[in-house]
Amino acid sequence: MKNKVDILGVSISNITMREATQKVKEFVKTDSFHSVYTPNPEFVMLAQDDEAFRKILNEADLVVPDGIGVVIGSKIKKTPLPERVPGYDLAQNTMKEAVKEGYKYYFFGGKPGVAEEAAVKMRETYPGIQIVGTRNGYFKPEDEAEIIADINASGANILFVCLGAPKQEKWIEANKHLMPHIRVAMGLGGSLDGMAGRVKRAPMIYQKLGLEWFYRLLKEPTRFKRMLVLPKFLVKVIFS
Ligand code: UDP
Repeated sequence: MKNKVDILGVSISNITMREATQKVKEFVKTDSFHSVYTPNPEFVMLAQDDEAFRKILNEADLVVPDGIGVVIGSKIKKTPLPERVPGYDLAQNTMKEAVKEGYKYYFFGGKPGVAEEAAVKMRETYPGIQIVGTRNGYFKPEDEAEIIADINASGANILFVCLGAPKQEKWIEANKHLMPHIRVAMGLGGSLDGMAGRVKRAPMIYQKLGLEWFYRLLKEPTRFKRMLVLPKFLVKVIFS
């Protein structure tokens, strides 16, 4: 079985949720930095015209298929990925083991207050979890040195960066060499909004049927334009 599956020039790790969680565990035990990204069809389409973004994804340590569209695309190409590995769920799975494994998290991103609310909720869900720092995702270039200093001073070894794509991946890439204690940085889009309870996750039945995108569309109809990328993506995969 191939380690990576190519979808329109973006290499996706051929991995299950269990294996991805295990990988994160291994990464934290090393003494170097690792990047984890979670592309959906929107990312793959962005990466068509943004070579820098494509390169960042292709050079990452772990790249999991967040969207059902990516899994369908892999099946169309006859190189099927085993399952969807949503970034949100991967993050939760690491948190289940956080106390045992000594993970220390820093939550970076979202509107002011969201990362703090997410930290409060996650401390309730996973008693004893160490969330050692938070910072909202709205900043000016001149604030970045201070943000990085705060991440470093916190002692965190896992960093969630939730700025939306491709901003979060580019931010991680540009700053990874400045964060010597971080072992895993994950780009997680709107996950902090989910953890904070500001955005509700789709009921399990939608998730199981691969219809989470449809639920989000019902809840946030303004996402319609963004979602038009899905059919475009599938057509492009079919003809690639
Ligand atoms: N965001 C941010 N800084 C920015 C732009 C966006 O922190 O400059 C946050 C925004 O508040 C939201 C997340 O990034 O929490 C992006 O969410 P989106 O819905 O795009 O992510 P998805 O889950 O769809 O990948």
